[in-house]
Amino acid sequence: MANLLDGKALAKDIRARLTEEVRQLKAKGVTPRLSVILIGRDPASVTYTSMKKKACEKCGMISDLIELPEDISQEEVKKIIRDLNADDSVHGIMVQHPVPRHLDELDILSTVSVKKDVDGISAASLGNLVLGTADFVSCTPLGIVTLLEEYNIPIEGKNAVVIGRSIILGKPVALALLERNATVTICHSRTKELDKIVKGADIVVAAIGKPEFVKGSWIKDGAVVVDAGYNKVEGRDKDVGDVEFEEAEKHASYITPVPGGVGPMTIAMLLSQTVKSAKLTLK
Ligand code: NAP
Repeated sequence: MANLLDGKALAKDIRARLTEEVRQLKAKGVTPRLSVILIGRDPASVTYTSMKKKACEKCGMISDLIELPEDISQEEVKKIIRDLNADDSVHGIMVQHPVPRHLDELDILSTVSVKKDVDGISAASLGNLVLGTADFVSCTPLGIVTLLEEYNIPIEGKNAVVIGRSIILGKPVALALLERNATVTICHSRTKELDKIVKGADIVVAAIGKPEFVKGSWIKDGAVVVDAGYNKVEGRDKDVGDVEFEEAEKHASYITPVPGGVGPMTIAMLLSQTVKSAKLTLK
C-alpha cells in the first residue's frame, strides 16, 4: 500500500515557516504584499481569490484583492497592472485565471513585470523556466516538485511521465522535472498507447481534468503518483482526481490524495514566491 504525499500537512508547515520569515522581513521594514486581480464574478474564482487573500493575511502579509468589472477593457486592465508594476510596496501580482472571453489573457498575464510575476505564467517567466533561470515558477508545478523534494523522492535519472500539456500545469511541470534531471515524456489527448507509456514511469503526474482517467492497473509497482486533477462528479461527496486512487495506491510507493495533495501546495507556493520577491528587494 502506498505512502501518502500529504500536501495539506506540508503546506501547513510551509505557511508556518513563511510566517516567521515575514516577521523577520517586517523587522527590516518590508511587509510582503500580494495584489490579486479578479475580473468579473466567476464563482470559483471569487472563492480562490478570497482563499489567497486570507492565506496571505494569516502569514502576516498584505494582500489586496482588486475586483474589476466583467466588461473592463484590455487597456484598462493593463494600465492597472502597469501601475502595480511601478509600485515599490507591491512584491507580487497575480491575475486570476480565467479572465472574461473578450480579453486577451496571455497579453494581460505578460504585462505583469517578471520581477513580480509570483504566479510564474507570463511569457517572460515561462521563457526563463525554459532557460533554467526562472525566479518564479507557475505555482501548481512548483508545488508538485516541492512535494516530491520535501518527501526526498529522487527525481534525477527517473522516467517521469506527465499527462497534460497546459501552459499553467503540464508544460511547466515537465520543464521543472527536466530541470531536476528527470527523463520526461509529455502525453496529451493524441498520445497513443498511454497505458504502456505510464507503465514505464517511475513518476507519473496526471494533469488532465478527467475523473479517474488514469487506471490503477497502468501504474508500475513502486512508482510515485502525483494527481493534480480535481473534478466534481455528480453523486460523489468529494472532488475526484484524474487517477483511480484506490487501485493505484495498491501499486504506487507514494501517491497524492485528492483533496489534500497537490491543491493545498498551490497557495503555499504563491505565498512563498511573494515572500521570495520581497526578499529580493533587500538585495
Ligand atoms: P487543461 O488546460 O484542460 O489541459 C488538460 C490536458 O489534458 C491537455 O493538455 C489535454 O491534451 C490533456 N488530455 C485531455 N484528454 C486527454 C486524454 N484522453 N489523454 C491524454 N491527455 C488528455 O487542464 P489544466 O488546467 O492543465 O488542469 C488539469 C487538471 O488539473 C484539472 O483537473 C484542473 O482542475 C487541475 N488543476 C489543479 C490545480 C491545483 O491547484 N491543484 C491547478 C490547476 C489545475 P490536449 O492538449 O491534447 O488537449
